[in-house]
Amino acid sequence: MRDYLTILGAGLAGSEAAWQAAERGVCVVLYEMRPVKPTPAHKTDHCAELVCSNSLGNNQSPSAPYLLKEELRKFNSLVIDAGDTHAVPAGAALAVDRELFSKKITEQLLKHPNITLIREEVTEIPSEGPVIVATGPLTSPRLSESISRLIGQEYLYFYDAISPIVDANTINYDKTFFASRYDKGTDDYLNCPLSEGQYYSLVNELKNGEKVPFKSFEKPIYFEGCMPVEELAMRGDKTLAFGPLKPVGLLHPETREKFYAIVQLRHENKEGTAFNLVGFQTKLTYPEQKRVIRLIPGLENVEFFRFGAIHRNTYINAPDVLSCELDLKKNSGIYFAGQIIGVEGYVESVSMGLLAALSAVKRIKGEVYSTPPVDTALGSLLKYVTETRRQSFQPMNINYGLFQVQEMKIRNKRERNKKIELKALDSLAQWMETINGELVK
Ligand SMILES: Cc1cc2nc3c(=O)[nH]c(=O)nc-3n(C[C@H](O)[C@H](O)[C@H](O)COP(=O)(O)OP(=O)(O)OC[C@H]3O[C@@H](n4cnc5c(N)ncnc54)[C@H](O)[C@@H]3O)c2cc1C
Repeated sequence: MRDYLTILGAGLAGSEAAWQAAERGVCVVLYEMRPVKPTPAHKTDHCAELVCSNSLGNNQSPSAPYLLKEELRKFNSLVIDAGDTHAVPAGAALAVDRELFSKKITEQLLKHPNITLIREEVTEIPSEGPVIVATGPLTSPRLSESISRLIGQEYLYFYDAISPIVDANTINYDKTFFASRYDKGTDDYLNCPLSEGQYYSLVNELKNGEKVPFKSFEKPIYFEGCMPVEELAMRGDKTLAFGPLKPVGLLHPETREKFYAIVQLRHENKEGTAFNLVGFQTKLTYPEQKRVIRLIPGLENVEFFRFGAIHRNTYINAPDVLSCELDLKKNSGIYFAGQIIGVEGYVESVSMGLLAALSAVKRIKGEVYSTPPVDTALGSLLKYVTETRRQSFQPMNINYGLFQVQEMKIRNKRERNKKIELKALDSLAQWMETINGELVK
């Protein structure tokens, strides 16, 4: 076993893992193939690039996504700190200026004395550990084959779609308005209101618009939280009006008019020069996206900075092959972290990077490690990915359903969630002390 840590992939999970190990005095060799070899979704050479939405999820207490972020903050998470530093207005969510966010993470990694960043595609898992494989849902094909051989299994997969980003200068602000749902917080979202007629004609065009086809042998499996907008439209004409286009709590600030449906746009950057269409991930072809999105009031002449797209996400059957410390049951010291193990979401990926790093550091130092308690968000998610016994293992976001705690019996949701949160943070503090007297903030 080597006395340094190799990490494959400087995405959300790999960047956090590298930072956490380096901060604990372990030397890290971090491999990232971009820009030498691109992925189908990443656009820059930055570490921890956000491929789709610029939102790191709900940031308001009490909520499970907030709790997971708060637990990461207790560990001085590199990624969450960059998110907090480069937040853009987004109501209850922690949305970030994606360029400044990943630039900051890259700079921090590059200047850390214990981290060496190598820009190279890795095609084989190093035979000697410890190594953390954090190459994500778009792991390069050659490394994918090597992983598949090593674990002796085919990959599982699902499809994830990206929503478009548009030029703020090309929006017609006379037809749109800034407001937050139920007037909560600041008016961070730009709203494009639709009448009943406009809504149904948009639904119709989404259903009939030309889509990027799947390969003949592939079944279109989607992650529920990232369903293409046209798939939702196919489920029923009213589905979008009760889903991402729901108008509840959004009145025109001056006229107090109510609308049949609303498309919301969220800031992409601090300057407000770009917006992304919330929940509008799509696999329509590029020309169709132009045509259909320009049917939305206010977006008639909109120009696109980035079109929506669809990508195959691969992940391993983690409960079958990984131990509770995230290394292979059959090859200890070979860790996996991030979306490749079947967690879904940026922050979930970061959290698995943290846990893999903590265990690997302990192994290198020859110290005892215990996994996080199951009443924490970190522990609940870890339990899901390593212990789920179901016919088919599905990727998972953090949510209260994963918490197996007594408090789940409390009827009042807010009270229940608050109690879970307080207990989790208390439990986390105790765990941090037991693992190595971690400095609790
Ligand atoms: C199209 C798409 C849209 C998504 N949209 C969202 C969203 O809106 N919100 C959300 O929360 N989550 C989203 N996800 C899910 C997920 O949260 C992200 O993919 C997240 O980036 C996963 O983090 P990760 O660290 O596991 O992988 P990544 O962040 O993808 O990092 C993996 C890194 O490994 C590198 N790499 C790959 N192969 C090799 C190799 N052989 N050698 C060296 N380096 C390699 C890649 O270049 C990449 O930098 C999306 C995923 C996809 C694919």
